Amino acid sequence: MNIAIAIDGPAGAGKSTIAKLAAKELSFIYVDTGALYRAIGLCAYRNSIGSKDVPAILKMLETIKVELAFNENHEQVVLLNGEDVSALIRTPEISMYASDVSAIPQVRAFLLDLQRNMAKTNNVIMDGRDIGTVVLPDAKIKIFLTASSQVRAKRRYDELIEKGMDVNFDDVLKDVETRDYNDSHRATAPLKPADDSVIVDTSDLNLEQSVEKLISIMKERM
Ligand code: C5P
Repeated sequence: MNIAIAIDGPAGAGKSTIAKLAAKELSFIYVDTGALYRAIGLCAYRNSIGSKDVPAILKMLETIKVELAFNENHEQVVLLNGEDVSALIRTPEISMYASDVSAIPQVRAFLLDLQRNMAKTNNVIMDGRDIGTVVLPDAKIKIFLTASSQVRAKRRYDELIEKGMDVNFDDVLKDVETRDYNDSHRATAPLKPADDSVIVDTSDLNLEQSVEKLISIMKERM
């Protein structure tokens, strides 16, 4: 029987960085579900479809294929119609597109089996917004990772600057707050802690401390 660990939380809480390191430590596969919504957002963007144009997005869904694969370093790769789009989906523009398309119930349904199948065949640490509540409600361990919006925006800002992107802090903060609002107010699978999740606030923890805390929670419950 495979073990699933769900990590949910708002944008920029450090889910992916922390989950990746924890997965390495536990020899689990790390699945970043946000990349799937981003791939659909990118596809809409490329086809000049508005991020809230539901009929056009539903039509687009009929013709596209989104898949997950892993490279030789065991890192996740997201494929859109067979093309590796992993690097192209990490822009602020595509973040907003992903947030908008993720509110469409049919988009969520489109990606559900893909996510569940990953957990059927592997020990996974899966991060997202609704993993503990909807995708893997029977996950053995559920963690809701959060931090203040200022701290999350600063982390995201530093990450984007390091990648050489030209961004300003206020825009990143606004983006984080808008996505939080959208994610927690949508009707389908809104962002919220599962009743049986452990809530971890990393506002006052550095990366090393956050990883340590998560790994100790996981080991304790496994
Ligand atoms: O995690 P990341 O920031 O890459 O996710 C991009 C967007 O995809 C989020 O803002 C959220 O709207 C959406 N998402 C979601 N459910 C998930 C993962 C991501 O709705 N499980």
